[in-house]
Amino acid sequence: MQRLTGIPVSPGVVVGRAVVLTGHADVVRFPIPPDRVEHELEQLDQARARSHAQLEEIRARLASGPGHDLAPLFDAQLLILDDSMFMGRARDIVRHERVNAAWAVHRAYEELCAVFATVEDPYLRERDSDLADVAGRIRMNLRRAGGWAADLLRDVDGPAVLIADELTASLAAQMDWSRVLGFATDAGGRTHHTAILARSLKVPAVVGLRDLSRRVSPGTAVVIDGTAGTVTLDPSPADIDDARRQAPARRRASTGAGPSAASVPAPTLTADGIAIRLEANLERLEDVPALLEAGAEGIGLFRSEFLLAERSPERLTEERQYEIYRELLTSVAPRRVTVRTFDLDERQLSRWAGRDRRDTRPGRRGLRLGLAHPDVLRTQLRALLRAAPLGQLRVMFPFVTSVEEMRMATAVVREVADELGRPGAVPVGAMVEVPSAALAADLLARESAFFTVGTNDLIQYTLAVDRTDERVSDLYEPLHPAVVRLLRLVRRAATRSKIDASVCGEMASDPAMIGLLIGLGFREFSMTPSAIPVARRLIQDVRAADARRTAGEVLRLATAADIEQHLFDALAAASRGSVPR
Ligand code: PEP
Ligand code: MG
Repeated sequence: MQRLTGIPVSPGVVVGRAVVLTGHADVVRFPIPPDRVEHELEQLDQARARSHAQLEEIRARLASGPGHDLAPLFDAQLLILDDSMFMGRARDIVRHERVNAAWAVHRAYEELCAVFATVEDPYLRERDSDLADVAGRIRMNLRRAGGWAADLLRDVDGPAVLIADELTASLAAQMDWSRVLGFATDAGGRTHHTAILARSLKVPAVVGLRDLSRRVSPGTAVVIDGTAGTVTLDPSPADIDDARRQAPARRRASTGAGPSAASVPAPTLTADGIAIRLEANLERLEDVPALLEAGAEGIGLFRSEFLLAERSPERLTEERQYEIYRELLTSVAPRRVTVRTFDLDERQLSRWAGRDRRDTRPGRRGLRLGLAHPDVLRTQLRALLRAAPLGQLRVMFPFVTSVEEMRMATAVVREVADELGRPGAVPVGAMVEVPSAALAADLLARESAFFTVGTNDLIQYTLAVDRTDERVSDLYEPLHPAVVRLLRLVRRAATRSKIDASVCGEMASDPAMIGLLIGLGFREFSMTPSAIPVARRLIQDVRAADARRTAGEVLRLATAADIEQHLFDALAAASRGSVPR
């Protein structure tokens, strides 16, 4: 028996078997029973084969096109993929340590990185970025085959307690919380954010336990006392009895699939009866079943530029795009579909080999690029408008920075509609993801049928923080007063012009943020499909009237820390007297 003390953030006592997640939730580690080892190795082999085929395809495409000088780069990646030091080692780790394949790949990657770091030869040292790409690709292919954090709990008998190095918002949004009794984390920073998560989810939690996730073996019995702030590993039978006596009856709140896939789900109602629309962000047609299963009311953001991940712009003809949009619209009909025109920059457009999410230079991006390449924009719009009668389509422009741009873009839509004999066929909206668009939202609202707020870009451009640059990533703060005020501004402008405004960035799927967004007046959200069940459950507990009052108070606060503290206090006050499950 071992008792550790941390910071109590959400009260209540629970006892359960540990599920351990580490690696900042990007790569998770979990144990597998002996009879699953072969299955895990098979998954690994399939992911390797898929990665091989993808790399061969990219290399062949580049070799025959304008990017032929880049083709040899992929030879290095193929060599790494075939090297037994990498995949052979990952197989050994699965077999001997009985852990999931994604974790084994991560470990093998780290070991090889350490070797590369000691090599003198600069050419070889540079191969570590290829290694990172290959490891990332294998994990992506493993994820497609299942075995991701959200699936993890399915492999555990009965409810579990979650032990993590850090519980990120995106991981929290995807967990099946009906199967998690409570959680404890190593991280002590961002305490309030985690506390808001725990309180919103109504699970006991302790944070700031330093190296807890390294000390706990998966499957160990653990008592989490979120009132006293203690975590007991391998508790004695008396401790377990004691904990069970204190544990309140579990509220059976399923976060599983919502309504059946066939029926269009009704909006989710807040505790005081306000209707909230939940839609899904989608990158690929293949993800439509996930959206249906999650009970999304539509597609709030289809990132169409991902269509270019598998084909060059020349191959993405009007006809091919028409077929894709037709399939998209009909496969989710009668649900609404909002397609964002290609959000690319010039470099990506000319040498596409998977959108580089690390490149955040604004440059000529999104709508700017579309207007600079009217052929690309017109082709996409023709395909979209031709498909429009087959479902409920809305078209949205990314990275809008001015009224002029929006006017030019809507003029192109009108011209294309006229050419096709379908004037005014679809609502045309603007993404608000740049401070200039948010600050001029009242003006932009007159030119737009709807707004979709892209908080990912809005936060980074407002705060001048590249969210992928680790040196400043702690400054990427959704609760910065400037961000909260901009959101309020956009929502107000939309209300005054009587247009819809949804939120589609990561902030919408952060369980700690949804109450604030509702309080600011937002009634529509779009998020990764797996985050929808958790959001649905949380919304049912929010009283919009209270959320509005809290948002009003928050708008007067000067720092992100004050705002976080205030949101936490408001949640604690709301739950006072009611015992968390
Ligand atoms: C955003 O910026 O919030 C957004 C949803 O767009 P993306 O993440 O695709 O840039
Ligand atoms: Mg964006």
